[in-house]
Amino acid sequence: MSPAALDIVLLEPHEAALRSLLQRDDGAEASAYVLFGRADISEDPWSGLPRTRLISHEVIPVAVDEMVSASPAHVTWSTRGFMRILGVAKERGLVAGLVHTHPNAAAFFSDQDDRNETELARTTFNKGVLGLASIVFGRENAMAGRLWVAPGETVMASSISLIGSQIKIARAHVAANEDQILARQAALFGRGFNPVVRGLRVGIVGCGGTGSAVGMLLARLGVGFLGLMDKDIIDVTNLNRVHGSRAADVAASLAKVDILAREIRVAGLGTQVVTTKEWVGHPDLRDLLRSCDVLFGCTDDHQGRLMLNRLAHYYGIPLIDVGLRMRAARSGADYDMTGRVSTIRPGSPCLMCLGVVDPRRAAAEGLRRSDPAEFERRKAEAYVDGGGDPAPAVVTFTTAIACAAVDELIQGLTSFRGSQGMTHNRIRRFDRVEDRAMTCRPVASCPICASQASWGRGDVNPFLGVIG
Ligand SMILES: [Zn+2]
Ligand SMILES: [Zn+2]
Repeated sequence: MSPAALDIVLLEPHEAALRSLLQRDDGAEASAYVLFGRADISEDPWSGLPRTRLISHEVIPVAVDEMVSASPAHVTWSTRGFMRILGVAKERGLVAGLVHTHPNAAAFFSDQDDRNETELARTTFNKGVLGLASIVFGRENAMAGRLWVAPGETVMASSISLIGSQIKIARAHVAANEDQILARQAALFGRGFNPVVRGLRVGIVGCGGTGSAVGMLLARLGVGFLGLMDKDIIDVTNLNRVHGSRAADVAASLAKVDILAREIRVAGLGTQVVTTKEWVGHPDLRDLLRSCDVLFGCTDDHQGRLMLNRLAHYYGIPLIDVGLRMRAARSGADYDMTGRVSTIRPGSPCLMCLGVVDPRRAAAEGLRRSDPAEFERRKAEAYVDGGGDPAPAVVTFTTAIACAAVDELIQGLTSFRGSQGMTHNRIRRFDRVEDRAMTCRPVASCPICASQASWGRGDVNPFLGVIG
């Protein structure tokens, strides 16, 4: 069997640390160690094939006294530090990694690199470490990456991504830009844009008012691979805002994901769509979630949001989370009509710190899933929140905030608003014609975003470090 396809993700803070460590005024080559978290995806739902995802977890400099010599054409360091790295990688279940520069050459693995790494890979596997990854930084920010999967055997990375406020994905095989359907957006963003979106793998969690709009917009934007996740059946009260839904779908009890997939397929835009009718926390969704480059959170589900919040950090998958709060005017109080788009990734405060997720409601939802009878008993005694009046929803506002969310993705890919990247937390007041960026600091005790321990951690047991 051929080895799994390989994707390498460098988190923005790690890439910045590497660039500054490896920058040499004398033009000599330089090197550093990186520990990677690893995701073993048994079946990428679009290709049906296994994938491996490596995510940068920690950058470790080569100690000054371990550097042996460096010139513009070589770098040599003692293996003492490497043995220490292997010890840490083995103990914590991480992949050991090397990064070195070719300051005046392309990003490729030289014969010398092959010889050196063959030795190091042998040591790596003798020590029982999961694998040895290697990245070359060439001139003009080019990169090449590979993983030693056995002594003498490597897999080249099919993509290397830089994930932060911007989303930069370099793929080994890029589709040609000959797409007439997308010609008008190439006229704005340039010829490089369409092949990037054609290669994108995007998951949408929740396919209701906002999620259905996000899905149709992403299909028209040319996103090549969409994964739709929602357990719900369409209801008559959804018809006022779910794009593509028909009165006949209610009579037929169609699932929301099937309606959206049907609309995307009949549009004939070349999108490959996969669907799942399970709650986002279900183990069956893990391969799909971990195969995505970007996730959109379009759910009201607090427990689901908490899980996506963790996933974004453990796997370096940017989460664009959407929410709406609509309150009718009452005597003495104006309308409150607020939309929110938050972009969550390692290095920025998480949904917990933003106050977007209510842990009490998340716990109540968890109880309803695991023990419905106990949930109903506590609800009757008013110990848990749940149910209540359904939230107001109007199609123009759900659709407008979906547009704002997809605009953040476009900003992350193109920097059309400037090089600052995606806005961390955008708040739109529809009742005031107001759009503001409101961010926060991480709460010092936050287990997700305040410590780097979760960043790029990859697969752990239990999944995402959560029991139950
Ligand atoms: Zn080299
Ligand atoms: Zn946090």
